[in-house]
Amino acid sequence: MSWRLWGYDLIARPEGADLVILNTCHIREKAAEKVFSDLGRLRPLKAARAEEGGRMVVAVAGCVAQAEGEALMTRMSLVDVVVGPQAYHRLPELIARVERAAGRAIDTSFPPEPKFDALPQPTADGPSAFLSVQEGCDKFCAYCVVPYTRGAEYSRPASAVLTEARSLVASGAREITVLGQNVNAYHGEGPDGRPWSLARLLDALAEIPGLARLRYTTSHPRDVSDDLIAAHRDNPVLMPFVHLPVQSGSDRVLQAMNRGHDRKTYLGLIERFKAVRPDLAIASDFIVGHPGETEADLLDTLSLIDAVGFVHSYAFKFSARPGTPAAALPGQLADEEKSARLARVQERLSVHQAAALQACVGQSVEVLVDRRGRHPGQLIGRTPMMQPVHVTHPGLEIGDLVRVRLVSAGPLSLAGEVEDPVLARRRA
Ligand code: SAH
Ligand code: SF4
Repeated sequence: MSWRLWGYDLIARPEGADLVILNTCHIREKAAEKVFSDLGRLRPLKAARAEEGGRMVVAVAGCVAQAEGEALMTRMSLVDVVVGPQAYHRLPELIARVERAAGRAIDTSFPPEPKFDALPQPTADGPSAFLSVQEGCDKFCAYCVVPYTRGAEYSRPASAVLTEARSLVASGAREITVLGQNVNAYHGEGPDGRPWSLARLLDALAEIPGLARLRYTTSHPRDVSDDLIAAHRDNPVLMPFVHLPVQSGSDRVLQAMNRGHDRKTYLGLIERFKAVRPDLAIASDFIVGHPGETEADLLDTLSLIDAVGFVHSYAFKFSARPGTPAAALPGQLADEEKSARLARVQERLSVHQAAALQACVGQSVEVLVDRRGRHPGQLIGRTPMMQPVHVTHPGLEIGDLVRVRLVSAGPLSLAGEVEDPVLARRRA
């Protein structure tokens, strides 16, 4: 989205800015607390701007704004605008209102008009673009704030998604990652007036000329459908990678979490994905130290990690979020205990991540180059399985799709050599 549309130019630092927007996350306490420390750092900058005779409008957007909007307004006098994630298309109007009246504005409503229709058509700012197709969640996992901050599940109509995807590809995207809190719960209206599944949407997206790669994230085990599994066999543009959070390997904990799946169902899904696409890579999220988690539960999580061999995962310490059922459960664990368990889970995950990278050495894969590396001339791209690859090759540019021989692996990434300089020029 171009800020010039709103009459502002983007600058790199907050010093001297006319407008600062903090986009916030409420999923864990640490993320939410950061907003208050960031605001503290803005206070002297806002005062300095006023001394120069200007005004720095400070807006807080996103889920902290949604969950703690009133408190932000009362506790933080420097905040001028608070806007929830469902109302952020109204931001220009709210900013204009406070600029005109030198007042303050808050909008944490869930407006009836879909915000996507009111936002400008995005363009890609690199070869890899994100496209939101679904928002909100009705699953109410015991630990999670998303159903409260993002509201009920909503899927955008397929035609709007396809139009946006074409515009992203026309502006240089070669890869699109389709996004949603539970993306595989997608059921947007198709051009035929009937709900389309995620697999159907991915098939339609795959037809867009110039689009080389498709991904989707994040999926929920309960919403994996037969056609999504089949898409990994039949859709040539769909990458062999699935981010399918399991959260825990213990049935007792999964039940306390209200996940709606158990360990066996999860492992069964992995088998079904692998049956159609044996090289498919699986990534996951884990919550460690959920209330009531015992040593035996933790061992179940470690054994599930060994059983699946995830290529990449995120693991978090359980964070009690106000208003969620898990925050009130008995058996809350001490922070040191959660940290110690997290370290064990992360250690096990990193063993598998490193092994997956090592297993790629010697293979020849297609890599989409998407950013610069730290060393002069070095570029970084991703394998189909999302692993970062460092390459240095004369004339190679960001946006190139190249065939690379993977020559060595580190704990987090691979190094490769470009095999075919002709392929390197294949660009949209
Ligand atoms: N809808 C997705 C995940 C969305 S939230 C799913 O169900 O898998 C992203 C991740 O944040 C979750 O997968 C979970 O691992 C983590 N998370 C959510 N709430 C949390 C909490 N209260 N404490 C710690 N981690 C949490
Ligand atoms: Fe949160 Fe995901 Fe559970 Fe929804 S399914 S409540 S987003 S963790």
